[in-house]
This record gives sequence, C-alpha cells and structure tokens, in this order.
Amino acid sequence: MKLKKMPSEFQKALPVLKKLHDADYEAYFVGGSVRDSLLNRQIHDVDIATSAYPEETKHVFHRTVDIGIEHGTVLVLENSGEYEITTFRTEDVYVDYRRPSKVLFVRSLEEDLKRRDFTVNAFALAHDGTVIDKFSGLSDLDNHLLRAVGNPEERFTEDALRIMRGFRFSASLNFDIEKLTFKAMTENADLLEKISIERTFIELDKLLTAPYWKKGISYLLEAKANQFLPYLVGKKAFLSEMMTNLAPDFLFSSSFQAWAFLIISIKQKEVKSFLRSWKTSNDFQKMVSQLIKLYEIREHRSLQLKDLYQFGKALAYSVEELRLGQGKAVQFDRIDYLDDQLDIHHKHDIVVNGGDLMKAFKLKPGPKLGQLLKQVEEGIVSKEIKNTKESIFAFVTEELKCE
Ligand code: ATP
Ligand code: MG
Repeated sequence: MKLKKMPSEFQKALPVLKKLHDADYEAYFVGGSVRDSLLNRQIHDVDIATSAYPEETKHVFHRTVDIGIEHGTVLVLENSGEYEITTFRTEDVYVDYRRPSKVLFVRSLEEDLKRRDFTVNAFALAHDGTVIDKFSGLSDLDNHLLRAVGNPEERFTEDALRIMRGFRFSASLNFDIEKLTFKAMTENADLLEKISIERTFIELDKLLTAPYWKKGISYLLEAKANQFLPYLVGKKAFLSEMMTNLAPDFLFSSSFQAWAFLIISIKQKEVKSFLRSWKTSNDFQKMVSQLIKLYEIREHRSLQLKDLYQFGKALAYSVEELRLGQGKAVQFDRIDYLDDQLDIHHKHDIVVNGGDLMKAFKLKPGPKLGQLLKQVEEGIVSKEIKNTKESIFAFVTEELKCE
C-alpha cells in the first residue's frame, strides 16, 4: 500500500533519504512515526533506517553526531532538523533477557524489521510513500491489535522490556493484545525482574500518562506483572481500586500526579523508599512526595494561605484534579483566590534579609537569627506582618524585647 499524503515531518526529511539513495544506500522511515502516521496521529521523532554502515552514513552528511555508534545510530543535522539514522541491524543471542550480546550490522531491511517488537512497530516507509509491511502489521492496525513480530515466546525472552512496552502500547494506542502475544507476555512476566528498573520506569510512566492507561494497567494486572515490579507485589486489588476510584475518562495531567496517586492507592507510606527503589531522580521524588503531602492535608481540611505558599499553585491544582476525578469536593477557585492573596511566593520576595536584620539589630548569625527570619516569613504569609521594612522591623523589635 501507498500513503496518499506524506505527513509534513516526513516530507521535510525526504532530502535525507535522497542523499543516502544518491550514495547507493537504501533508506526508509521506520518505527513509531510510521505507525503513528498510518493512524493519523501526531508524529514525533522521525527515525530512519539505512543499509549504510555508521561510518558510511557519516561520509554522506556534513554534520553528524555520534549518539550511539555502537548500536549503529548517527544523529544527522540537516535542513534545520535532527534525524537519528540507524544502520539495519540484527541482534545476536540475548544472554540476560535484556540486551543483545552483540549488535550485527546487516544490509537487509527485512532482517532489521524482524528484530522489532510489535507488527505495528515494524513498518518501513519508502521515499515514494510505499509502506513495507512484512508482518501483516496493516491488518493488525485495522483490527487495533498488538501482536509480537514472529514467535512471541522468543521475542519476550530475548528482551523482557517488550512485555512492559506491550502494556504501554495498549494504553497509548487503545489496542487489544493478541492472544498468543498476551500469553507469552504473561508466561514471561517474571523476567521483568531482570530488566533495569530505569527502563521499566520509563515504560510504566508512559503507560500511566497515556490516554487508555486503565486498559494498560488492566492488562498488566491480568498478566500478574505487578508481582515482579518493586513495591507492587500483592497490590492487585489496590491497583484495581486505583482505576475504579477515578472517573472513567480521568487522565493524569503529569507523571508526578500519576505516580503520587499510584502510591496513595497502594497505601504505601514509605514514599521515598518506593521512589528510590524505582530509581527516580531526586527532583521527581521531591515533587511526588510534596503532592502526596498536600493530598493528605486536603483529606481533612481546606486549603490555607500557608499551603499555597509551601506547595505552590501547580501542585495544588494537581491535588484538586485528583479529588475531582474521585468526585470529592474541590477548591479550584480558592487556589486562585489564595494565590492572589499571597504577598510573597518565596522567601527571596521578603524586602528585608538576614544581613539587614543583623545590621539593624546588632545580631550575630546563628539559630536566633534563623528563627526570627522564619517567624517573619510565616508572619508575612499569614498576613500578621506586612512585607515592608517598617512592619518587619517593628515585629523584630517586639520579639527582641520579649527576650
Ligand atoms: P513512541 O511513539 O513512544 O516513541 P516508538 O514505537 O517510536 O514509540 P521507541 O521506543 O521510540 O518506540 O522505539 C522506536 C522503534 O524501535 C519501535 O517502533 C520498534 O520498532 C523498535 N524498538 C524499540 N524498542 C524495542 C525493543 N525493546 N525491542 C524491539 N524493538 C524495539
Ligand atoms: Mg519513538
């Protein structure tokens, strides 16, 4: 079959294919962008596969960056765009269920397509719009089916991350998982323990923030894959509740929100340990922990000025969205009102700093000064002190008198 109209992202990249052709190499668009264009979805990152070896690709283009040369990937900067060009390759014996022990460059497109995970991810698109479909991906696309390329059992034992990718694509595409593919995913779910947790996190994160996340989680639970993921062992009932507690059309607006609600749903009190075992970044841990803290505050009281000051508007919105999704009372208007009321949003907004107080009151640096500054900050937030030099100095004078 032929694409009637090439999406503009591909059109823009056509000169890249042409340059490779002119140098007598084969080159195609491959991977998710071809799938997404066939589904009339927005394309992101255009990937190109070629028969040229990495060194050969580098000869064809003026501006290249070695971003993964050992896997055969060269980044090409052309026509104000960036394109990842990867040499056709096969992957030799997998010894640890996760990484090919050797990547072999080949000159055959078919060999390259064979090593891809799902039939709908294994298309190649030629420069003239011809879709090369070696594994009946087009019919799977029509039937909204996710099917492993080749023998599913082998494909998931080669690389168990594909199991997570399967749940993830069902969630992003709203596709059912073909029976034998799902059987192999289920039977090999224990291999997820062998996968680096960072890669697993990326897939579960994409799943949770996908439009059909409930479908992805349902498959994950049906395959009992949670039994092989950190802190999710024995949590099937809680994870099911996580879905039913939120309105049918509820979508997470950020990763923080999704993971926070997951942690709340499984009733995990040790938030930091959970996030550390998933090897998330410190910033991520901080955001998720804060979100959970505010969520818990909101379980038993209204928002106050100090909450807005401490957690900020974005986080407060995120918590209210979770409440709305569960049909609980919400305070979106109050967030805006309180935020407008705040005289300062950060301690740097205070007109007086520690140095000013030390000078004016002959104070030395130390705990007393720290405590005074904290009181001033809290006083301004609660509106007992104005954010003016006079008001702050008057407060400090009174405080020091009481000593
Ligand atoms: P997305 O739209 O999320 O980027 P994608 O299909 O492009 O989805 P990528 O992770 O970007 O997924 O990978 C690009 C392509 O590489 C896939 O479409 C697939 O053909 C192949 N691929 C990626 N990871 C694997 C894997 N673990 N096993 C086999 N093939 C893979
Ligand atoms: Mg991609």
